[in-house]
Amino acid sequence: GAIYGIERWGKGQFEVLDNGNIGLITHHEQGPATTDLTEILHSLEERGIASPILLRVANSLKSRIDHINGNFQAAIKDLDYKAEYRGVFPVKVNQQAHVIEKIVEYGSPYHYGLEVGSKPELIIALSQRLSVESLLICNGIKDSEFINLALLSRKLGFNTIIVLESVSELELVLKESKKLKIRPALGIRIKLNNRITGNWASSSGDRSAFGLSSPDVLHVVDRLKAEGFLDCLQLQHFHLGSQVPDILDVRRSTAEACRYFVELRKEGAPLQYIDLGGGLGIDYTGEHKSTENSINYTTGEYCNNIVEAVKNTMDDAGQAHPIIVTESGRATVAYSSMLLFNILDVTHYNDDADVEIKDDDARPLRDMRDVASYLTPARLQECLNDVTFYRDEVRRNFGRGESGLRDLAKAEKLYLHLISKMRKVAQSDEWISEDVETALEATADIYHANFSLFQSLPDVWAIDQLHPIIPIQRLNEEPTRRAILSDITCDSDGKVDQFVLADGISSSLPIHVLSEGEHYSLAVFFVGAYQETLGDLHNLFGDTNVATIEIQPDGDFNLIHEVEGDTIAEVLRYVEYDPLAMSNSFKAMVEEAVSKKSLTLKERKTMMTAFKESLNGYTYFEH
Ligand code: PLP
Repeated sequence: GAIYGIERWGKGQFEVLDNGNIGLITHHEQGPATTDLTEILHSLEERGIASPILLRVANSLKSRIDHINGNFQAAIKDLDYKAEYRGVFPVKVNQQAHVIEKIVEYGSPYHYGLEVGSKPELIIALSQRLSVESLLICNGIKDSEFINLALLSRKLGFNTIIVLESVSELELVLKESKKLKIRPALGIRIKLNNRITGNWASSSGDRSAFGLSSPDVLHVVDRLKAEGFLDCLQLQHFHLGSQVPDILDVRRSTAEACRYFVELRKEGAPLQYIDLGGGLGIDYTGEHKSTENSINYTTGEYCNNIVEAVKNTMDDAGQAHPIIVTESGRATVAYSSMLLFNILDVTHYNDDADVEIKDDDARPLRDMRDVASYLTPARLQECLNDVTFYRDEVRRNFGRGESGLRDLAKAEKLYLHLISKMRKVAQSDEWISEDVETALEATADIYHANFSLFQSLPDVWAIDQLHPIIPIQRLNEEPTRRAILSDITCDSDGKVDQFVLADGISSSLPIHVLSEGEHYSLAVFFVGAYQETLGDLHNLFGDTNVATIEIQPDGDFNLIHEVEGDTIAEVLRYVEYDPLAMSNSFKAMVEEAVSKKSLTLKERKTMMTAFKESLNGYTYFEH
């Protein structure tokens, strides 16, 4: 299992068990427990929960909330910071009811609150029993209905803060507050000049679409003063962008935000909270460096940098330390879910079987065969060029009608056989060019997988997000093939061809040869953030089955929540079909065929049963 780099990206979370399966490590007061992931999968399947399954581990949500809060508390203590940390979970990162309920439950000892960016998210937050000490932060563009709800919710004991995102929003808030005679708790979202690197760079800097520029900030302050509402301004917000790769960006931006904070207080705003938004990243590759899919810091460093930067600026300005708020979404939920799916079929691309070429075979075929006689590490590039040339020659001859299908098939088979030989030669210690490496990688097998990239891993498709993906069994056997994964949609984009391995990112995944009928499964880790509601219905593959488990200190697990994936009828309804009408229309056609005697009564029964079972069944491949 060492080839997959589990020790790097999965340290303390996963390990390879003696039986070759992957073990899931959970941490309990009594000490760590290990649970066999393949056993969990089988046990779910025995209950009738079929692959693909999104598996949520509730323990992970709890341990991440403890981890983030614990690290802030430690930094505050170490640096003698004179105020608290008060986190909020941004609902948009995972809105699923069961996730939000668990976050509120596990977060309550820390007065962990919620952040919302839309009316539906506000409704979600208002249906939770948050304590008065917890914050309910309202970001996003707000209409008067949103503002009314936010204002009125304060009467229920919610600590709702309306963050002003624009100048026009300010006027709306003033109007509604006066109408309802409720003093609002306000925040102001500022735009920083500092730009970050990474996938979300455009969320930062002065061209970002979000937040107020310094002239607008001043305008808001002046208007609040003029209207007698400046005493309502309690919070200053900014958000750098998600998955910030470089800790220096966190430090610089926090320092810049603090300068605004100090100045706003000087203007008379009684700011109590400094909200630094999201951005705490996940080390998806385990490389621990500043790249799109990795980060060069730990949670401890992140907390220390923030607390220290705020403390220093406040101390320099002689101001009291504010309550520090962050809106860490990804870092809270990404670890808690994984996608489990099975392999349906395999297309092997490098054929080890030799092809017999006779002396009376066509010339390019004979030339191709002879390449094997000079195949050495030093002449690898030449051999690759030659076999490609001869194969293309046969392809051209086929196109011109000069070669038949049998010659073409021979050429293709021989090509793969020689590529396979070259791959073995390439494993010698001698240097090989990148060209050759890419060409050899390009003939990796295709493993056809039972999931939809567009539904379950949208960021892999849209922004080349990397997640560790590994087989969950046979990790004590050497994987002898290299493959890319092709999903179940009929879209050439529905493939995964970038993998996190121990020695870096690779364009193919080491994988085992499957035996006849083997149920071989893979897991995609760290998919708890953003993926579930970004996913779409491409090819009408719907939501997968979702199982939430809680692992006990002895390693056994309880299934604490289950959501059945979409049925075909459900996804058809999303696109405005009426399954009953469809069924009736199909039945009418079947009946016509019966009356014309082209269908027997028995066939009619079989056909209608298959139609109905499909409608009520899973959208994915079923065994
Ligand atoms: N807060 C705001 C305003 C956001 O826009 C986002 C997401 O981009 C977040 C918090 C969550 O960020 P992250 O998931 O990086 O913690």
